[in-house]
Amino acid sequence: MPTPTPLISAEQIQARVGELATALAHRIPDGEPPHLIGVLKGGFMFLADLVRALPRPVTVDFARLASYGTGTTSSGEVQLLTAPHPVRDRHVVVVEDIVDTGLTLERLRRHLLADRPRSLTTVALLDKPSRRRSDVTIDLVGFTVEADRFVVGYGLDLDQHHRQLPYIAVLDPS
Ligand code: 5GP
Repeated sequence: MPTPTPLISAEQIQARVGELATALAHRIPDGEPPHLIGVLKGGFMFLADLVRALPRPVTVDFARLASYGTGTTSSGEVQLLTAPHPVRDRHVVVVEDIVDTGLTLERLRRHLLADRPRSLTTVALLDKPSRRRSDVTIDLVGFTVEADRFVVGYGLDLDQHHRQLPYIAVLDPS
């Protein structure tokens, strides 16, 4: 089992989540609460911290997608396993843990846009831009991660391990 080496501390994450929450609050018009859709499972911790840092009421939902592949590589085929509830006329915010190829975010965006939300904003805690296989835009990004690093912790796993870590770690092969 590879050992996790700390990469982004819990304090750095919390500070950045606060900044993202402020930026997000400025993007969404006043009035109707924004509707945040967390991408399971990896996004659960980020979503929980983000809603607590947002200075306004929100509604929350979840979506679950899977890209089939083996180990740490994506096959490119993304399936929507659990669809979120309808979003017509809502100010929707998609909350992703990490965007790698971008195919997961693209698939979810397509699904949501078909329902005609009033707006659609995308937030990702982590971004690996050099591995992108889709031209999907991410409106707000927490941290950029080098493409060849596989990260765990703060909700992210490898085979269900390490999700509970309060920080982001990189796995060293050992
Ligand atoms: P994409 O569709 O953008 O290639 O993949 C997004 C999904 O790939 C993420 O939600 C996550 O499940 C997985 N993923 C990509 N890179 C990493 C990584 O470094 N660590 C972990 N734990 N998952 C990753």
